[in-house]
Amino acid sequence: MNRSIDQKPRVAVDCDGVLGDCVGAVCRGLTSTGCKRTPEEIKHHRFALSLSKEETDIALSTMGKPEFARHMPWYPDAKAFLSELQKVADVTILTSPFAASATWMEDRKQWFRGKVEPRDIVYCSGQHKARFQADYLIEDHPGTAADWCDKNPKGLAFLVDRPWNQPGAAEYRDHARMVRCLDLPLALTFINLHVAMRASA
Ligand SMILES: [Mg+2]
Repeated sequence: MNRSIDQKPRVAVDCDGVLGDCVGAVCRGLTSTGCKRTPEEIKHHRFALSLSKEETDIALSTMGKPEFARHMPWYPDAKAFLSELQKVADVTILTSPFAASATWMEDRKQWFRGKVEPRDIVYCSGQHKARFQADYLIEDHPGTAADWCDKNPKGLAFLVDRPWNQPGAAEYRDHARMVRCLDLPLALTFINLHVAMRASA
């Protein structure tokens, strides 16, 4: 956080599972084939740990369909959150491409159209997100968030509470600078408070 107090903090925001309801869309795809599933049943990041082999194949092929990412629903509070966050922070979307989809990155650009400029969308796999230097990270993958904290010694990560990032999840990790947020507005409140505290220190 080597910046003067009049500079906006840099915030990296994950997309799937934070802003975009990827798992909800996958579960609707599963349900449409007769495999009724809800996001609450997805207890790990890797679908194969929550679903049967047949269901996992359907889930991944659902995500691989052209324009899946373009039509992914936003979480109910996500658009307002992003808009408010952009008023107080320099926001970069830090998101993994999905190799099985030929249209994923263009779909993502269209999904953010009018909200985030393409230059502010960074595509990288979860294992490389830790390389991105920022003041705050908002993530739903606890391992990715903890790795990022390890590489960003002054950074604070917010883990958005989802069924697949609870302590029983296979990918679960904890970190002293990782804060679980029950919803996105709470993450925004934390950032505003933290920025104010830094400014008055
Ligand atoms: Mg995610």
